[in-house]
Amino acid sequence: MPNSSNPASVPPTERRIGRLSEVSINQIAAGEVLERPASAVKELIENAIDADATRIEITVVNAGRNLIRVADNGCGIASDDLKLAVERHATSKISDANLNDIRTLGFRGEALPSMGSVGQLTVKSRWHDSDRAFQIEVDSGNLVGVRPAALREGTIVELRQLFSKTPARLKFLRSNKAETRAINSVVRTLAMATPKVGYSLHSGSETGRLQRVLSMPPESESDGDPFRLRLTRLFKSEFLENTVAFERELSGVAVRGFCGLPTYVRSATSAQHFFVNGRGIRDRLFLGLVRGAYGDLVSSGKHPVIVLFMECPSEMIDVNVHPAKTEIRFREPGLIRAVTISAIQDALAREGHRTAPSVSRAMTSRLSPGRPESTAANPDQADQREGGSTGRHGSLLDADATAAKPLGSFEPAAEPGSVADPKALEHPLGAARMQVHRNYIVSQTADGIVLVDQHAAAERLVFEELKKAYHAGKPDSRALLVPEVVELEQNDIDRLLEVKEELAALGLTVDRFGPGAVCVRQIPAILGEVSCKDLLQDIADGLGAGERVRVLEKRMNDVLSTIACHGSIRSGSVLSVNEMNALLRKMEVTPHSGQCNHGRPTWLELKLSDIERMFGRR
Ligand code: ADP
Ligand code: MG
Repeated sequence: MPNSSNPASVPPTERRIGRLSEVSINQIAAGEVLERPASAVKELIENAIDADATRIEITVVNAGRNLIRVADNGCGIASDDLKLAVERHATSKISDANLNDIRTLGFRGEALPSMGSVGQLTVKSRWHDSDRAFQIEVDSGNLVGVRPAALREGTIVELRQLFSKTPARLKFLRSNKAETRAINSVVRTLAMATPKVGYSLHSGSETGRLQRVLSMPPESESDGDPFRLRLTRLFKSEFLENTVAFERELSGVAVRGFCGLPTYVRSATSAQHFFVNGRGIRDRLFLGLVRGAYGDLVSSGKHPVIVLFMECPSEMIDVNVHPAKTEIRFREPGLIRAVTISAIQDALAREGHRTAPSVSRAMTSRLSPGRPESTAANPDQADQREGGSTGRHGSLLDADATAAKPLGSFEPAAEPGSVADPKALEHPLGAARMQVHRNYIVSQTADGIVLVDQHAAAERLVFEELKKAYHAGKPDSRALLVPEVVELEQNDIDRLLEVKEELAALGLTVDRFGPGAVCVRQIPAILGEVSCKDLLQDIADGLGAGERVRVLEKRMNDVLSTIACHGSIRSGSVLSVNEMNALLRKMEVTPHSGQCNHGRPTWLELKLSDIERMFGRR
């Protein structure tokens, strides 16, 4: 049945244009700016940061539904401006003359009026060089007027009964727990970019007491790099242990930050934080950049942890893309890409042999009886941590399982390890002592032991070497004394011959050899003795799987990875101490050798102190 009050039911010929009231306009804006309580918290903190506050105290009651209160010690609002502050499109941050030069977080002048239209808003403020404070109230769009207030400094904004008059919005809110989590994450994100500002966040229910959720003092330059200090405070020491610092500047664009080791990953992008000129943004450009920078170092579906700060001239970006101001447009995305990717890749290559210590830590906690699963994570992070360590347990347990085999499978090294050069202990991966289960190298470092998965490690080394030779256009191939004829299905042959040139560039020469066969004349030298039949079959299978149209680059990476699997050191190869040490030294200088081609760690370290703790000596 048509509803006569619904304008859509009015025939177009009878529809006339009318002006919306100020309240309706603000409510429409609120629809975009204030999606949930956390968005109001974000806008209020941004206002305090723009006012140069160094302390920001946030209180929420009932997940922000009943009260959101943000107090700061910033410059305050002049009493004559209070009315304008809650008016739409009134702002102190830009003027008609400098629309394209935005240096503040706010600029649209719609946060406060939006809040006043969907709740009860009180703004109490004392202008920095005034000796009196004033307050203004707006209740569901109705201005209650300006009157004197008691306040020593700064500004306190209180927003009560958010969305109580817009039940549709209220219905979309999630549980109190989820909304509080969103608020917490907004505060943490803003705190990352403003280390010199101190923050506190208290949360409570309507009746219960307030509880402190977060508290961070302003980080001082005299204690070190404030950004590093703040990130350590937010993520605990785990963050710095598992990340690598990067820094680069190019044509006026400067990036810096911390990127996770490829073994420190999550299964969602929520641990990737990007800031441009202090503004936290969620941008596909950056998500793609990170994927590009890590390339084959992390398996698909996994996302490295990263915090990135970019500074660039304001004319290079357009921040006015989205009402929530979380997206921006770059004038030269190519430049942004170049700076960022090279900064991350250089940092990763520099620290390439490291694996995430959290992987080793997860192992330690598994081995030691009665210790909690994760000792390093604080509870408010526990639900954010994922994959990086837990995802690896499978392979660690596999190693455990083999340990249950009879002692006979113990493989003493061909040469006793104890005569090794004492200086070898100083190497990051130590001096090889023995090989166990024909696949694990046990090595001694100055203050612990290292376990290396020789197959995974060798595979990565071969992969990196092949990649380098391929990109340099100088494959190091070995001619077979007798060319080998390999019989394959016609489909497989066609697929292989399609990339014949690329294979040749890898040092693998394959030619047609009558019906149903190919002839292999050269193979990459690094592979040693291999079964050509298995190698070609695997490559052909790899080429067949996946999407039909694939970029050559990606395809060749897969081929390289497949070839690397066929390298001569596999699990089951017995290695001498010299061979093991050669492998360790090579790992130390090879970029990305900390994880295999499938993203698993290639080695783990147990510190002596961990061992002593496990035996109850500490
Ligand atoms: P915008 O931040 O886009 O300017 P808002 O509606 O958030 O718009 O705020 C309107 C104006 O109120 C700001 O431009 C600023 O002058 C003033 N204001 C708001 N919050 C504060 C604060 N905490 N301290 C000082 N001034 C503030
Ligand atoms: Mg604002």
